[in-house]
Amino acid sequence: MPRRSSVTILGATGTIGKQTLDVIARHPERFNIFALTANSRAEELHTQCLEHSPRYAVVLDESAAERLKTSLQKAGSDTEVLCGLSALEFVSAHADVDVVMAAIVGAAGLKPSIAAAKAGKRILLANKETLVMSGSLFMQAVEQGGATLLPIDSEHNAIFQVMPEKRSKDLSTSGIRRILLTASGGPFRNAALSDLDNVTPEQALNHPNWVMGPKITIDSATLMNKGLEVIEAHWLFNASPEQIEVVVHPQSVIHSMVEYIDGSVLAQLGNPDMRTPIAYALGFPERLESGVSSLDLFKIGRFDFEAPDTVKFPCLRLAFDSLRMGGTAPTILNAANEIAVDAFLNRKIGFVDIPVLIESVLSRMKSKAAETLEIVIEADQQARQLAKNWMLER
Ligand code: NAD
Ligand code: MG
Repeated sequence: MPRRSSVTILGATGTIGKQTLDVIARHPERFNIFALTANSRAEELHTQCLEHSPRYAVVLDESAAERLKTSLQKAGSDTEVLCGLSALEFVSAHADVDVVMAAIVGAAGLKPSIAAAKAGKRILLANKETLVMSGSLFMQAVEQGGATLLPIDSEHNAIFQVMPEKRSKDLSTSGIRRILLTASGGPFRNAALSDLDNVTPEQALNHPNWVMGPKITIDSATLMNKGLEVIEAHWLFNASPEQIEVVVHPQSVIHSMVEYIDGSVLAQLGNPDMRTPIAYALGFPERLESGVSSLDLFKIGRFDFEAPDTVKFPCLRLAFDSLRMGGTAPTILNAANEIAVDAFLNRKIGFVDIPVLIESVLSRMKSKAAETLEIVIEADQQARQLAKNWMLER
């Protein structure tokens, strides 16, 4: 029997983390868990540790780590509890790890993802913020470390599935004309511009098709999620902004498409369930049972398509702008967005303030060449500070 793959799940208590454990639990003969990590939810991580017996559990929060240590000891578990950012890097780069699921939300995922890339792991990348913040450095680390990068974001996973297996670095010499990145349009697709003034976090958290963590759900409502995904597609597939078209497809069944120079358009379809891309990346190049039900086309009945409205949703335009600007501009966009989303969820700013805040921070900072991680982190920190100042000043 071949050796089982040893998996670290960064962000195990999140939506993607839990769905990854669901898929892995269907294939105990193929995978074992090396490490599970969480920010602070020690109780949930405790339950996961008892179920999956990882060698390590990592918690960011110190008091949560102490609680987990005590509770696991009481339960007779062998799992060793570690704490802090360096421990996240340790379980991402450890020699005994084969696969790292990068499913931490936000900029916090950057350093452990880079550690996994440098150590040459198979990286299942859900944390799109890593590519938005430091796409150039991360792709370099993947190449230098000899890592295998498999996208988990459903759109990018779909694109990966319908791209030619052997392709050159240049899309056009691989016969590709453009990428059609689909978007659900979010909960406010049909809302009038004036209705957006009074949007509450509860309304914005009510996504029509996907169940996801709060940050990405708000990003989906503002269309920033699609903007981040445009930048993600740029780095993953070496696509220029002109080669990426966003197509609103409210059914969320076509997860994205690739158009070839002969006019062929290849799409990947399926129920909106992240266990499909997760199983694809875990099994690649083999296919694994994921628990996802069959697509019922008769029930769906029709597919609709429309162009995105960037007047109603300026975040998409801002993301394209930052990609064209290059350098640290996407880092700044991402950092300002993280602060804005958090402030909106905590009722400190309104829904329509999100793009206003981001645009203000982008206009007040100069983009620099993103040559080192220090430059990227400095831009991230400065943008966060300016975003906080924006809220104080207004
Ligand atoms: P989530 O909020 O449900 O989970 C986030 C996880 O990250 C949790 O385990 C949490 O403990 C951990 N975490 C949060 N802050 C941390 C910190 N500072 N340090 C260490 N760990 C921390 O989020 P999610 O929906 O699972 O999304 C995770 C990532 O995957 C995001 O980057 C998101 O954009 C991407 N993604 C998610 C989906 C989806 O369907 N949920 C789809 C595509 C991409
Ligand atoms: Mg997506």
